[in-house]
Amino acid sequence: MSSRTSDVLVIGGGIIGLVTAWRAAQRGLAVTVADPEPGGGAAQVAAGMLAAVTELHYGEETLLALNLESARRYPAFAAELTDLTGHDLGYRRCGTLAVALDSDDRAGLRELHALQQRSGLESEWLSGRECRRLEPMLAPGVRGGLRVDGDHQIDPRRLAAALVAACERAGVVFHRVRAARLDVAGDRAVG
Ligand SMILES: Cc1cc2nc3c(=O)[nH]c(=O)nc-3n(C[C@H](O)[C@H](O)[C@H](O)COP(=O)(O)OP(=O)(O)OC[C@H]3O[C@@H](n4cnc5c(N)ncnc54)[C@H](O)[C@@H]3O)c2cc1C
Repeated sequence: MSSRTSDVLVIGGGIIGLVTAWRAAQRGLAVTVADPEPGGGAAQVAAGMLAAVTELHYGEETLLALNLESARRYPAFAAELTDLTGHDLGYRRCGTLAVALDSDDRAGLRELHALQQRSGLESEWLSGRECRRLEPMLAPGVRGGLRVDGDHQIDPRRLAAALVAACERAGVVFHRVRAARLDVAGDRAVG
């Protein structure tokens, strides 16, 4: 790695590392990212569901509050990134339709629906026929489903590419290497 110093060193330029680097650089910090393939992590295979309501789980009430707040801020985040880079992120306020293929699925989704209701979240139980009316390609045997209009979606591959571009514009320095070891002197990483 070069001998230039940075205020911030981010090891791993996946979505999280790239957002961290971009925001730090926007605030005037000198930032370096080390990653053999920035933007090439899990985002390359992820679905891009931004589904705070559909992906609610028992015992995750604290996480739910964080997820809902993140979801609320996502449209402005996506718009800022698109304005800056010109990249279309594939951001869609399309909602989620979670379907039950058998009776076990149906029982699970019914429980999720009840939990959503108790948590004050908006979701609607649909019959199999109502699900197929929304999505005609669904199998005839679908047993019902949950419609969540508040969920949204992004194309994670486009998001990662836009974040790399935003980082470059903000002056983030990329080192396309795998970090094998971190040398620390006092409270600073030195190499
Ligand atoms: C199949 C699948 C589907 C998913 N679907 C969704 C979804 O619908 N909605 C959702 O919100 N999330 C989804 N996720 C999760 C989401 O993609 C991840 O949580 C997110 O992309 C993780 O980002 P990250 O930056 O933390 O890590 P990663 O994407 O794993 O990035 C880590 C980076 O670190 C780099 N790295 C690793 N070791 C080193 C090293 N020693 N030196 C330098 N660099 C290093 C790697 O090259 C990589 O670029 C899905 C994940 C998968 C796998």
